Amino acid sequence: MAERTAELSALATRLEGEVAERRAAEEHLRQAQAGLVQAGKMAALGQMSAALSHEFNQPLAATRNFADNALVLLDRGRTDEARGSIARILGMIDRMTAISRTLRSFARKPGQKLAAVDLAEAVAGASEIAGLALRTAGAELVVSLPPGLPPVVAGPVRLQQVLVNLLTNAADAVEGAADRRIHLDAVATGAGVRITVRDHGPGVAPALAERIFDPFFSTKEVGKGLGLGLSISYNIIKDFGGTLTVGAAAGGGAVFTVELRSAEAGSEAA
Ligand code: ADP
Repeated sequence: MAERTAELSALATRLEGEVAERRAAEEHLRQAQAGLVQAGKMAALGQMSAALSHEFNQPLAATRNFADNALVLLDRGRTDEARGSIARILGMIDRMTAISRTLRSFARKPGQKLAAVDLAEAVAGASEIAGLALRTAGAELVVSLPPGLPPVVAGPVRLQQVLVNLLTNAADAVEGAADRRIHLDAVATGAGVRITVRDHGPGVAPALAERIFDPFFSTKEVGKGLGLGLSISYNIIKDFGGTLTVGAAAGGGAVFTVELRSAEAGSEAA
């Protein structure tokens, strides 16, 4: 009996020791994780600051140059040319305004309301807004939405913003291409709806596929693309609990796929 008691008390001591050890390990892990989150935030902030100062410095330097020029031209009475310089300054200011307006979309309030959104309505709104870009590129939008699609979990304005972005990118991609059709399709999947926007442009090279969702990544000429559309779209869809991916379409061109959750009772997660 005494032996058994001693055995039990030894076991209890050992267990206590193990519990204390595990607690210490957990605390250590928690601290390490907090450190990583902090490091990640600093890295993101650093990346953002570098990108921002790059984006603003170039138009700022150019603006200064044109303003200097305008002064010299005015002193010499060459008002017409001075007017040209001032017009370019205005162009630069517009560009900086566009950048700062787009940046505001990054200041998303987490937990913004999500609703049950009718995809057909979102598509109709988006194709209207993207209409000018589509016509300018000579693109033909072919929409195919099967009847009976369930409503999706989204914010109506933000979903439209994503679709407009995908459509205008596709319009840019097919400009000057032989086949300028852009296909917007949707199908019901088990848990939600899959939307694809497919074009017949040059496509996205596999090496670039990862980077196109990065802020300020753009292959378009200065003044045409800010490189923010896809990174904003990616985050919006993530907020909806969905995914946005890019792939190569069979037969050439890019295909962007948006997966959204169904808002119908039973299929909605959280
Ligand atoms: P922007 O359109 O301002 O360049 P985005 O973030 O919308 O910024 O797109 C980033 C880049 O992704 C584009 O510059 C382009 O290189 C590539 N891209 C986007 N859509 C397409 C597409 N449909 N076909 C080919 N490349 C595309």
